[in-house]
Amino acid sequence: MKIIAVHAYTVRTKTKVPFVWRKGLLGTDPTSEQTWLRLVTDEGIEGWGRAPRGAIALDLVARRLKPWLIGKNPLMKELLWHELWEIDRIEEFPMYMMGLVDSALWDITAKLAGVPLYQLLGGYRDRIDAYASTVTYATTKEFLDVADQCLARGFRAIKLHAWGDARKDAALCQALRKHVGPDIALMYDGSAGFDPYESLYLGRALEDADYLWYEEPMREFSLTAYSRLCEQLDIPVLTAETSDGCHFNVADFIAQGAADMVRTSFGYKGGITGGLRVAHLADSFQLSAEVHGMGVENIHLCLAIRNNHYYETLVMGNPVVFESCIDARGQVHAPAGPGLGHDINLKALEKSAVAKL
Ligand SMILES: [Mg+2]
Repeated sequence: MKIIAVHAYTVRTKTKVPFVWRKGLLGTDPTSEQTWLRLVTDEGIEGWGRAPRGAIALDLVARRLKPWLIGKNPLMKELLWHELWEIDRIEEFPMYMMGLVDSALWDITAKLAGVPLYQLLGGYRDRIDAYASTVTYATTKEFLDVADQCLARGFRAIKLHAWGDARKDAALCQALRKHVGPDIALMYDGSAGFDPYESLYLGRALEDADYLWYEEPMREFSLTAYSRLCEQLDIPVLTAETSDGCHFNVADFIAQGAADMVRTSFGYKGGITGGLRVAHLADSFQLSAEVHGMGVENIHLCLAIRNNHYYETLVMGNPVVFESCIDARGQVHAPAGPGLGHDINLKALEKSAVAKL
């Protein structure tokens, strides 16, 4: 099998609901761009990948990826994944660009096999609990109201993205635990808003409130800072969401005691190939590798990785809105068709693209 054509389409989407994060962290741009990559093979099977951003992705595809991919065998994913690292050595591209290519190659492979991707990757389960991952709301009262709405819609797990103020966030976390009782899984994500002392203060409050995990309180630059924090706390500290370098880098988080759980994902960990590698690395240390972020690619990872426990889905707005793939029990199910299961109308995509290649 050979890749005979490479196309890319950038589309612009407008979010209807405000996307608010902690103090100091920019909200998501209401008009965001996404680029689709379409690989056409000589056997008629096409693979689709995607990445956030427009111009960066189109530039990389035009200059580097298209000339490199034409004529390649898409089934040689391992070889191509390592060649992508060589391209990255020169380009230093954003990590999600690996997912753009790698997921399209896996899409082709799973379509050829005639199975949904998660089965090709191993296949561990056919559905999984989702957790409601909140944006940042204005008051404790509103957070508790949003939590009630999530529980009414079937969720049994909630993760807070709060204000980025250690004392206020600690009080919120304790109020939420009191409000929902002991049987709901609660998690907290600091989105790298704190220094080591604030991180410790907040971590102790989360321990007292029986939170399941404490995610990314600091930027993921200092392994020393994280290994000290892990040492000081009993609550599992979940790290390595945004650190570059896939399993090559996550290995050091684990070896240095800078992670009690690690993040993996298709977007930040080098595509499906990288996401699996991180999960298997963590598994060898009996650690969990929790899949970060939404999208059908991450659903397949969630269903293929034994040591992952939830699918993350954002809840935004009030009344809350969230992805339509979540069922009434707060679960997400396996996509049924072969491949990744992207539902793409090529004509409509070509028409709506703001730029293409
Ligand atoms: Mg996170």
